[in-house]
Amino acid sequence: MATQSKVWLVGAGPGDPELLTVKAQRLLREADVIVYDRLVSQAILGLIPRGVQLIYAGKACGNHSMAQEDINRMLVRLAQSRSRKIVRLKGGDPYIFGRGSEEAQALQQAGIPFEVVPGITAAQGAAASAGIPLTHRGMARRFQLITGHFQQDQPWSVQEAALADEQQTLVFYMALGQLEPIRAALLRAGRTPDTPVALVEQATLPGQRVLQTTIDAMVDAVRQAGVQPPALVMVGETVRLAQALGQPARISEVQRHV
Ligand code: SAH
Repeated sequence: MATQSKVWLVGAGPGDPELLTVKAQRLLREADVIVYDRLVSQAILGLIPRGVQLIYAGKACGNHSMAQEDINRMLVRLAQSRSRKIVRLKGGDPYIFGRGSEEAQALQQAGIPFEVVPGITAAQGAAASAGIPLTHRGMARRFQLITGHFQQDQPWSVQEAALADEQQTLVFYMALGQLEPIRAALLRAGRTPDTPVALVEQATLPGQRVLQTTIDAMVDAVRQAGVQPPALVMVGETVRLAQALGQPARISEVQRHV
């Protein structure tokens, strides 16, 4: 009997190819087919040996080149058609805002063996390269990862109580289109207008930019600086450490708007 196909849902990390896990690197070498996302960096795609079948399944905001249901179906079909090693390569970590769990459910329902390989999520990449620790004694005793993106154009909202604690680092993903409601929610939650905010664009990549601002000024600052996705919005006292702890190569990219 022919062996069955298997799918690996693999995190590619935030962009720097050296932040791939050893397991991810091995699977990129061994795969027969790789289905990858828009956020997988060119440098990482460059590590894939010639001859591997590459399928792009990226989704740009507002320009859905492939619906999630179609991606789920494609993974199942690829696995059923013949026996092979299929790598589903996703930016960051597959189980953090990556919809990897929906793909896992589809594979599970179709009876296809799969394995999840975690990756470094964008918030961890940005924390290290921009010098904004997610926790820091006396400043942040917890952190939260929050999505700025909601299904089917629903208005952005989050329980305000969740934003109120000053001793935490908040990291908003996919948030560039939702800065106004996020700012309003932070203020309604009682956060002071001068609470530090950082926008980290292209974290860990050669084009990384860090924009330092405040809750009050963040909407204007982002507009003026022309921040583009992919970017994270980081909020909290730990943002103040960016100048001191940011990686030397990146410090010149820090812009202040406060
Ligand atoms: N699974 C991914 C997140 C996918 S959602 C992870 O764990 O990181 C896509 C969002 O992630 C982007 O809109 C952006 O907010 C964030 N993101 C991904 N890579 C990034 C990078 N290199 N720099 C800044 N933000 C990034």
